Amino acid sequence: MKILSADKKNSVEDEIRSVFSSALLGWYDRSGRDLPWRVRGAHPNPYIVWAAEIMLQQTTVKTVIPYFYRFMEKFPDIQTLAEADIEGVLLMWQGLGYYTRARKLHECAKYLTANRDGKFPETYAELLKLPGIGPYTAASISSLAFDKREAVVDGNVIRVISRLYGILETVSLPDIQKKAQNLMPEKRAADYTSAIMDLGAVVCTPKNPNCGSCPFQENCAALRNGMIDKIPLIQKLQKTGKTGKVFWIENETGGVFIQKRTEKGLLHGLTEFPWSAVVDSGDNSGGDKSDGVNESGSVSFPIAGDWTDTGKSVRHVFTHIRLELHIFKIRLSKEAEASFLNQNSGFFVPESAFSDFPFSTLMKKIILEVSKQDPPKKGIPTLSDYF
Ligand code: SF4
Repeated sequence: MKILSADKKNSVEDEIRSVFSSALLGWYDRSGRDLPWRVRGAHPNPYIVWAAEIMLQQTTVKTVIPYFYRFMEKFPDIQTLAEADIEGVLLMWQGLGYYTRARKLHECAKYLTANRDGKFPETYAELLKLPGIGPYTAASISSLAFDKREAVVDGNVIRVISRLYGILETVSLPDIQKKAQNLMPEKRAADYTSAIMDLGAVVCTPKNPNCGSCPFQENCAALRNGMIDKIPLIQKLQKTGKTGKVFWIENETGGVFIQKRTEKGLLHGLTEFPWSAVVDSGDNSGGDKSDGVNESGSVSFPIAGDWTDTGKSVRHVFTHIRLELHIFKIRLSKEAEASFLNQNSGFFVPESAFSDFPFSTLMKKIILEVSKQDPPKKGIPTLSDYF
């Protein structure tokens, strides 16, 4: 094997970089997407870059676009966002999922407004010190808004680089990060970042990539070796199955009990109906033991009474959890309502006021399921009779 001297090796790498980046940038100039949060070259408004990048995490461009417009209309700059209350921010985020992102946006906006006059630092290292900003977002803001040579690595970038290099082992993030950084050109960092993301999103797609319109079809190891379907090799995340109950509690005037989720982690701060779940396997370590899981490991009712099993359930998948909740209903007398409110922090609201509260997609599914009309059965009240 021929060993290259350090100087020669550097010049080869420089050449690869220059060929790669000019091909990619040429493709981007011809075929890059126009997106509401994007300009050609460095974006003059890092707030827009930041908000869009946070929204795009785990979410498709198509889903994000209407949310982005609504969010920007409500919170056009970092000061407005910082001054808003968290419920208002969560309400704008309603349905987008992964609500921790909204809370972190809000927290960081408050921090920047209080400590940096609402201005973002430009460097990766300084951005990384901000609350709620991790390596991916720091690199995105630094490159897209300040044209700094900081490589972003997301699912799209991993796929493009793994296929180009023909990497058959399980993906190693540090390795991809190093390759991505090496491939970045000295100039046009912002366009380069948009370009590699776009290539992964619209050409080098997970299934049936459009290699015919890829600028790297001559050089791609995966294409050359017929290995596209096998690359990238990503270890699948194991999801935990959980099953439980959700409680639709009405009072005599038709109000429904809601509460703010105080438990840290999943869905924190959002409005919910009381619910609890345990891990399917019988290992209840994942169940909300403090919140309605009894000694036998099943979910108990939050108040004794004449509960109705609606026979309905909703399923929802979070990053690590597959959840199924069975819907139970009860109508409380005035006395039972008073006793229930004594022991639970929350309140009864009419359904017509639901839109004022930030419900998660999981809770919206429950509302939808409950409000579906059951086929009328003789002598048996339908769900609509409850409202
Ligand atoms: S040639 Fe095909 S597999 Fe290779 S990078 Fe381009 S689109 Fe992806």
